[in-house]
Amino acid sequence: MGKLIVAFDVDGNLVRSVDAYQEVFSEVAGNYGVPKERHYGHLIRTTGDPIEKQFGAVMDLPCEHPQVLEAVAGWRRMAYSPDKIAPLYGDVLPCFEALKTAGYRLCATSSMKQDHLERTARAHGFGQWLSFWLGTDDRLIDKSHHKPMIIGRFGITPAEFEGCSYLSGDGKVDMRIAKRWGSRGVFTVRRGYEGKSSEEVLGLLGEEGYEAFAVVKSLTELPDVIFSDS
Ligand SMILES: [Mg+2]
Repeated sequence: MGKLIVAFDVDGNLVRSVDAYQEVFSEVAGNYGVPKERHYGHLIRTTGDPIEKQFGAVMDLPCEHPQVLEAVAGWRRMAYSPDKIAPLYGDVLPCFEALKTAGYRLCATSSMKQDHLERTARAHGFGQWLSFWLGTDDRLIDKSHHKPMIIGRFGITPAEFEGCSYLSGDGKVDMRIAKRWGSRGVFTVRRGYEGKSSEEVLGLLGEEGYEAFAVVKSLTELPDVIFSDS
């Protein structure tokens, strides 16, 4: 069986949302008295981690602490406000089109709240390209829980999924999730790693314990990376 499923991380990978999220994160953390040097850039550095963990880390409190949960609720309200739909990266649609034309089945997996993901999907016309998009609700704290849902929606077995899937994401955590899923993680370089080749970034990720299958500088490179593997 060919490798026929590609799941896409959304924030920072398909849509340019991470800077806006960081701004809201800083504002909320600042309201709890967290000094700037602790919150500045933290969300970007830990992209892909559950938001509870990110707030817990800068507030020096356990993730389930009431103050952390309150901060998270405030962040969600502001970051996922209906008037804040993040713009799509320019390399996304050519990538979707090339993969769809070649017969791949595509979906999105996101830690974004489902209702905001629906708004984002509608705004960018995801329905033309993606079979479905999975976000989070109050029970599902992050996208690492999406594997059984992806398998169910595509109607395949776990073994088939493990033999036929890729996870495209801009976060190191995405590479860890891909590994846990038995999928192949392809890292999109959206920030950092200036002047480094894809091979060098792959090596650096490996040194940090994040085993990616491949690294791409733009999603326009992703179809060829996948085609040459299938
Ligand atoms: Mg991301």
